[in-house]
Amino acid sequence: MKEIIITHSEDETRKIAESLGERINDPSVITLEGDLGAGKTTFTKGLGKGLEVKRIITSPTFTIIKEYIGRLPLYHIDAYRLEHSEEDLGLDEYILSDGVTVIEWAQFIADSIPDNKLAITINYLADEQREIIFETKDSHMEEKILDVIESLKGEKR
Ligand code: ADP
Ligand code: MG
Repeated sequence: MKEIIITHSEDETRKIAESLGERINDPSVITLEGDLGAGKTTFTKGLGKGLEVKRIITSPTFTIIKEYIGRLPLYHIDAYRLEHSEEDLGLDEYILSDGVTVIEWAQFIADSIPDNKLAITINYLADEQREIIFETKDSHMEEKILDVIESLKGEKR
């Protein structure tokens, strides 16, 4: 499936991510693609809120992986610095272990990404407008995305 949501503010992106986070109850892998400033970290913050993470989520650029405690553990990976890297960081152990693994710049560790991931692409449209594309082959994840979209319609009524 492929679904697209347009957001018009940082807050709106956060809320949508939070709404998705609230619906996640089992180990999942989410990849986030998009240019610098697209909103990948913003999305992760919202997702974390939905997973009841209390700590403030910050960009993991200098640490590669950050772990947060929530309803499920949240593993936030930034693979940017792993381009051309031969290093084996044991990332496979996080991916689909017990928690929700969010991976920015996942293309740099493509071999480790399972097929049933949720792939999110965020595109800059204008000042505060972003296009968020959700793609997945996982039927449970698909249900959650459709549910998030349905809940947005309810809000606008
Ligand atoms: P990335 O992690 O992709 O580099 P960030 O989430 O750190 O991006 O930053 C996104 C920036 O874009 C923030 O400064 C945020 O305020 C701004 N922004 C403006 N509109 C939006 C929107 N609709 N969704 C997400 N972020 C937005
Ligand atoms: Mg970021």
